[in-house]
Amino acid sequence: MTRGLQKMQARANAEKRAAANAPPKSQLKAMAEGNKFKCPVCMLMIANYKLVVQHMESKHPKAAIPPESSFGAQK
Ligand SMILES: [Zn+2]
Repeated sequence: MTRGLQKMQARANAEKRAAANAPPKSQLKAMAEGNKFKCPVCMLMIANYKLVVQHMESKHPKAAIPPESSFGAQK
């Protein structure tokens, strides 16, 4: 019985260490929120509206650039 308990404790410690080495969740969230802009033509994820405009002008010069407010609704 005690051996099983030690095994459980060892696993719990290993999980704690793994959690300490893993990047904080807030960073993942920031990364997910960082790419809320998406090119409406090629669906490329883009970090901010300025880059969307740059991307549209260079890659899709014939496409209309959507206003920044149209991206805010996509959540
Ligand atoms: Zn594009």
